[in-house]
Amino acid sequence: MDNCIFCKIAHHEIPGKIVYEDDLCMAFLDLSQTTDGHTLVVPKQHFSNILEVDHQTLSHMMEVVQKVALQIQENLHAKGFNMITNMNEVAGQTVPHFHIHIIPRYQSNDGFQATYHDRSQEVDLDGIYQKIMKSE
Ligand code: AMP
Ligand code: ZN
Repeated sequence: MDNCIFCKIAHHEIPGKIVYEDDLCMAFLDLSQTTDGHTLVVPKQHFSNILEVDHQTLSHMMEVVQKVALQIQENLHAKGFNMITNMNEVAGQTVPHFHIHIIPRYQSNDGFQATYHDRSQEVDLDGIYQKIMKSE
């Protein structure tokens, strides 16, 4: 897609530190390096987000996420990972080309946070469940 920075990297029109590539997808270092080895896995074809991408590409990308994470674990000695995809601006997506973040973790207080605020005392869990499960 025109003017998409990740399409340009995927088509080798602008440089990236590419750690993996095949016909369907590519993995390259995220410029921000939130932690050492922070990597993005992207499809070569332009899809806006995880709900748009086809199943074959999505499944394959998850295999690549695992392969690259194993490489980072082995060579950078990461002790753990967060794998994250942000969908839409409301969730923090800044580049509208589907991507999965691989965020290696070396210590728990490294500045990266995925916080799950406990709202269990405030919400109607059964009501939410019923809404999700209702047939259309
Ligand atoms: P998100 O906020 O989930 O859309 O993530 C977009 C990520 O893309 C951010 O972590 C940026 O640091 C990263 N990014 C933006 N431009 C580039 C680029 N040219 N090469 C590598 N990473 C990039
Ligand atoms: Zn794109």
